[in-house]
Amino acid sequence: MSLIQHLINGELVNDSGRSADVYNPSTGQVIHQVPLASRETIQQAIDAAKAAFPAWRNTPPAKRAQVMFRFKQLLEQNEARISQLISEEHGKTLEDAAGELKRGIENVEYACSAPEILKGEYSRNVGPNIDAWSDFQPLGVVAGITPFNFPAMVPLWMYPLAIVCGNCFILKPSERDPSSTLLIAQLLQEAGLPKGVLSVVHGDKGAVDALIEAPEVKALSFVGSTPIAEYIYSEATKRGKRVQALGGAKNHAVLMPDADLDNAVSALMGAAYGSCGERCMAISVAVCVGDQVADALIAKLVRQVKALKIGAGTSCGLDMGPLVTGQARDKVSGYIEDGVSSGAKLVVDGRGLSVAGHEEGFFLGGSLFDHVTPEMRIYKEEIFGPVLCVVRVASLEAAMQLINDHEYGNGTCIFTRDGEAARLFCDEIEVGMVGVNVPLPVPVAYHSFGGWKRSLFGDLHAYGPDGVRFYTRRKAITQRWPQRASHEASQFAFPSL
Ligand code: NAD
Repeated sequence: MSLIQHLINGELVNDSGRSADVYNPSTGQVIHQVPLASRETIQQAIDAAKAAFPAWRNTPPAKRAQVMFRFKQLLEQNEARISQLISEEHGKTLEDAAGELKRGIENVEYACSAPEILKGEYSRNVGPNIDAWSDFQPLGVVAGITPFNFPAMVPLWMYPLAIVCGNCFILKPSERDPSSTLLIAQLLQEAGLPKGVLSVVHGDKGAVDALIEAPEVKALSFVGSTPIAEYIYSEATKRGKRVQALGGAKNHAVLMPDADLDNAVSALMGAAYGSCGERCMAISVAVCVGDQVADALIAKLVRQVKALKIGAGTSCGLDMGPLVTGQARDKVSGYIEDGVSSGAKLVVDGRGLSVAGHEEGFFLGGSLFDHVTPEMRIYKEEIFGPVLCVVRVASLEAAMQLINDHEYGNGTCIFTRDGEAARLFCDEIEVGMVGVNVPLPVPVAYHSFGGWKRSLFGDLHAYGPDGVRFYTRRKAITQRWPQRASHEASQFAFPSL
């Protein structure tokens, strides 16, 4: 068993302070210890970032982008190694791990366009001999705090863009699966990033609080559960920091009577059970418009949920691996018990699954509930496991009301062949990311990602154009060069044309 290191000022650093266990969820064994940084360790990373900032902010954007081009190549060359690490500590299948890495690389590609995205805006002759422009300037030292469920992709939503915008970045990844995140940061160092521009410090609440309280940290990006997102947003904004805090979700898929049901079922299977349901965009509620759709859907789903291929994530050809920890598995099992006792019909029960050769792993099979109603806990709360709830409603309007009344508003989708229904849904649904016959509408890197309501605290979404706005501040410059021979009298009225 090895002790994972921090990456501070370009060096791997040992930490003999507090630590936590990192599991291989497929075997149930502890495979590493991860250090939990003290305030002093966080301060070392901040000091390194502060020292690196003046030179980095003055490095031409095209040179910063060149580092990202090399980083992209290294990520692609190391895909197998990174996917293996993700799968070993998170439990997701190798194919799924490679998929999240590819979506992360998209963000590196977007960051490669730094000279274009930082061009600013220019207006000539806004007044006599006066020109004006807006500059996008970096904030300084900024930090990111990321969840366990995308150890490669979510950090890549943040620091490539923050860094090409000229900032120095401190990343505090999830303490549950930190190895792939650390390796990826080392590859960026290898790509030629100057020391101190990116540091990775592992830790728990103590490390996060140190980042919140440090006056040198100008902005915080957070992705994780809603209670922590709300805590970080309120504590950090109180201290004058810029914050984007992305939280939890309960994503609904609406099935209209005219939907192509076979394709909708295939899409739902992947979206509900892929990655063991541990995705913030996972579909966890299927809202069927009419009993006929619901009955047909359940009949098709039952067969497929029972046939899910489940095993160690690192084995090939599987649909699902284990949950991330024993605690996560027990929490999901508790929700299944709660659903049964509150009167929902458990059509497929995934509890009690044992995988041969991996009896100590944190496995659960897929579960499916029918006749779920809005007051049940399994409907209201984020389960974050392989559990799909079917809710029956009479009309599209009722389906939309249900979704709009839910506290979360991350993602949603509608399966239909009716353009009018789809258009109404897109216009009126109070959710940040919407799919039409697309079950996981995760925006590409040149759009931005973010939910509504209690799925996001802050004004700007993650990555893409909103990310550029978040990691820069505007400076508006107005410049006048009077003609030599002219003399202009004082003006006491407010300047206008
Ligand atoms: P989490 O909130 O437990 O942890 C996220 C981060 O916060 C980790 O780095 C963790 O160390 C830190 N943290 C945990 N407790 C803290 C505390 N008390 N004070 C300060 N920091 C603390 O989330 P998780 O279990 O790692 O991830 C799953 C959650 O993340 C789900 O709710 C999921 O929906 C959400 N998520 C949201 C998005 C999104 O884009 N909206 C994306 C991925 C995951």
